[in-house]
Amino acid sequence: MNNRFTRTGILFVLSAPSGAGKTTLREGLRKNADFVFSVSCTTRPPRPGEQDGVDYHFVGRPEFDAMVSAGGFLEYAAVHAHRYGTPLRTVRDHLDAGTDVLLDIDIAGAAQIRACADPAIHTALADVFIMPPTIDELRCRLEKRGTESPEQIDIRIDNARREMAFWREYRYTIASGSIEEDLANFRAIMCAERHRSLRMSPHPDSDPATQQP
Ligand code: 5GP
Repeated sequence: MNNRFTRTGILFVLSAPSGAGKTTLREGLRKNADFVFSVSCTTRPPRPGEQDGVDYHFVGRPEFDAMVSAGGFLEYAAVHAHRYGTPLRTVRDHLDAGTDVLLDIDIAGAAQIRACADPAIHTALADVFIMPPTIDELRCRLEKRGTESPEQIDIRIDNARREMAFWREYRYTIASGSIEEDLANFRAIMCAERHRSLRMSPHPDSDPATQQP
């Protein structure tokens, strides 16, 4: 981070009901990606334009279940009738190397991470909830996106209603406004988290507490 301190990586967990502007926020963050996006495994089929290994690792149910049995996921959940999971090894390797990781996961996955027994994960965690404007606005955005059937939109709206009740479980909540505002707020959270003493260690040869002025 600088030549006086090192630190371990931060696990930024971002949750938001679909249509809350999370994809646009991700795109904004990607422009100055001083962290890595975790690529989840999913049993959902790819949408047009989505790339395997970039947007998701698209896997079949048997492969997904085998990873669950092998303890290969940091967390996993069923969302909108499909399975989604965060590969554990990649996340741990990045955090141990001092690289920040961003997970875009649902509320059940975030709850599993908060309950995780691994102290390194606890220290790393910074969870953020994006609260969408209103249910009507959400429905409007999903209809405009045009990637889901009316039945799938109804499932997503029901899920959104349920998810919005969980905002207090998160360390941070961003009441979604314009994309610029959401991006600035998320960046401010990242900046503050990067200065938490908890994750910092002085370089052995430059401990500020023992240096002469
Ligand atoms: P989509 O199918 O629209 O890409 O994602 C649907 C939902 O699944 C989103 O809310 C997203 O945050 C969530 N999701 C994506 N990857 C994961 C994951 O690895 N774990 C969990 N728990 N949720 C995920």
